[in-house]
Amino acid sequence: MKWTSNRSKNVDDRRGMSGRGVAIGGGIGTLLVAVLIYFLGGDPAMVQNLQMEAAPQQTERQLSESELQVREFISMLAGENELSWKTILAEHNIPFRPATVVIFEQTTNSGCGIAQSAMGPFYCPADEKIYMDMSFFNELQNRFGARVTEFTIAYVLAHEMGHHIQNVLGTLSETEKLRRSGRYTEAQMNQISVATELQADFYAGLWARYTDQREKFLEPGDIESAVEAAAAVGDDNIQKRTQGYVNQEAFTHGSSEQRIEWFTKGYRSGDIRQGDTFSALLK
Ligand SMILES: [Zn+2]
Repeated sequence: MKWTSNRSKNVDDRRGMSGRGVAIGGGIGTLLVAVLIYFLGGDPAMVQNLQMEAAPQQTERQLSESELQVREFISMLAGENELSWKTILAEHNIPFRPATVVIFEQTTNSGCGIAQSAMGPFYCPADEKIYMDMSFFNELQNRFGARVTEFTIAYVLAHEMGHHIQNVLGTLSETEKLRRSGRYTEAQMNQISVATELQADFYAGLWARYTDQREKFLEPGDIESAVEAAAAVGDDNIQKRTQGYVNQEAFTHGSSEQRIEWFTKGYRSGDIRQGDTFSALLK
């Protein structure tokens, strides 16, 4: 992909800060952890009982040249997301508000409780921030076998921005209502989670389409590398690698095939109305 000239101001780079000492504290955040939206197969129940907050952060070291480049890159991606989503939502008379991207290492505070590298990138609806630890991409390459390119990072960030758009459109609060109603079985709730994730993939594809129309930033192989990443983080692939077998009922993010299908649909259609994964999945 080509770098563009747009930059967002909504990036909060917390690398190089100390704050790794974790203090025990109460937490409003605890209640909200359950609505964390993970990119990579994380189970919200796993962190539901966290009652911790990271200690206040202080500058500890200077960032290296390549770390500053990463900040520049993330600022560019955030800027391109803002421009494209403003346009897409304006076409349907919906006001847009930006999300903040927090770059961190190890641990940091979030509006949904403490963020840790092991969670993978996620979006917290409570503070409307995306939390990204860049070491996730090493994991993606080494553990899940995806070739990581710049566009892989673009896809992952666009997926998380997709969750922010779901928040802006009220989709996340609707699914949260369903979850709390207690009327659904665990398998049905997992289907709702899959629909939520696949829609974020669809939105990522839609973002790529609009951004390319404006910036002509895509290069040969870019879409393929997003598709490859989508396949690597499909539930079936993750389950095969972590437990050795596939249990479809436990899917929370969708199979590799579904993730590719919906990302591609967003990219090819360029039409947000085609992204109703809920009707498609929950017949
Ligand atoms: Zn997600």
